[in-house]
Amino acid sequence: MLSMDQQLSIKLAQRREDGLYRQRYSLQSAQSTGVEVDGKNYVAFCSNDYLGLASHPSVIDGLRKGAEMFGVGSGASHLIYGHSHEHQALEEELAAFTRRPKALLFSTGYMANLGTILALTNKNDHIFEDRLNHASLIDGGIASQASFSRFRHSDTVDLSNKMDIVTGKKLVVTDGVFSMDGDLAALPDLVRVCKKQQSWLMTDDAHGLGVLGKNGGGIAEHFGLGLEELPVLVGTLGKAFGTFGAFVAGSEALIETLIQYARTYIYTTALPPAVASATRVSLKILQQETWRREKLNSLIAYFRDGAEALGVDLMPSATPIQPILFHDDALVVKVGNRLKDKGFLVGIIRPPTVPVNSARLRITLSSQHTEDQVDALLDALDGILIDLRTVVK
Ligand code: PMP
Repeated sequence: MLSMDQQLSIKLAQRREDGLYRQRYSLQSAQSTGVEVDGKNYVAFCSNDYLGLASHPSVIDGLRKGAEMFGVGSGASHLIYGHSHEHQALEEELAAFTRRPKALLFSTGYMANLGTILALTNKNDHIFEDRLNHASLIDGGIASQASFSRFRHSDTVDLSNKMDIVTGKKLVVTDGVFSMDGDLAALPDLVRVCKKQQSWLMTDDAHGLGVLGKNGGGIAEHFGLGLEELPVLVGTLGKAFGTFGAFVAGSEALIETLIQYARTYIYTTALPPAVASATRVSLKILQQETWRREKLNSLIAYFRDGAEALGVDLMPSATPIQPILFHDDALVVKVGNRLKDKGFLVGIIRPPTVPVNSARLRITLSSQHTEDQVDALLDALDGILIDLRTVVK
């Protein structure tokens, strides 16, 4: 019998052989468009800090003041005296921001998604998910005792066909902005299908909140969808908000249900209250400083024009998530590593994070980038592609 470490080593060796081995880098600087890694400076195009709030002085100050007042650790779960004034105030502000009666903080988006799906379903129910949903949503479907099926990406006909053949309570779950592709869910169509099927609809707007909509209200504001159309709305705070954590917004009955039944809410230590304080500051900035979204949108258009001119395979995304498809796992690693050698960090995304044959560079933009930085990235990419004699079509 092989030891545990021997068995694990065989599995790891296989992953290396498959070209799927991942490793971490450790940053020696604050999250920003310019970062230091292992003593070298890079321009980063791989962060979800879309509005440049992660190291905003006022947000940092909010964290400091929160810690001075409430300490660092929350000390307990929300239901055992870990719920502070700052958590409560942030929940009320997030409810107002999303135009929902109530909001509930979770420690992470992963936990919000898992806990919500499990709290809303039982073994007689049916969960339907877009096949490109984030892993945390898919894991919720897998972990649930309900029957679980995936529909083809953004395909409401496939969804309807799958829903037609079952009876009982149905929950449809979708990303708002798809995290690896950058496209938007066809929410108005999904709302129509859910209405017809008398189904519940849950949307994870991790990448839309703060970015979409004039006021940063995300995909709900973008499509003008209220509580009735979009009853379960999830947002995360580690992306455009620049802090950490997540929340679910919805009706009083939904939020009370989650407080009573969502195990990832109940059985875990509450988010540090100072993080809630910092998030209250970033929520204000995110709403007031509309120039951040305007700048981001103009950079997205600028990047797409430049990338199209290089003849690369862009995806139809109007969000700060701008993937370039390479299809080939080894090639995408080569191009990503060469960009790193030239001083640019981009996401190198391969299966199983994305479907087989859809390896890509995931380039993310922030309102803090400059057009010069985008030009420099595209020049470097152009040089690498010419060098590799590969025009990716
Ligand atoms: N949903 C989506 C769409 C995401 O992209 C992510 C994080 N990458 C999450 C949920 C998880 O959020 P968190 O990082 O707060 O756990």
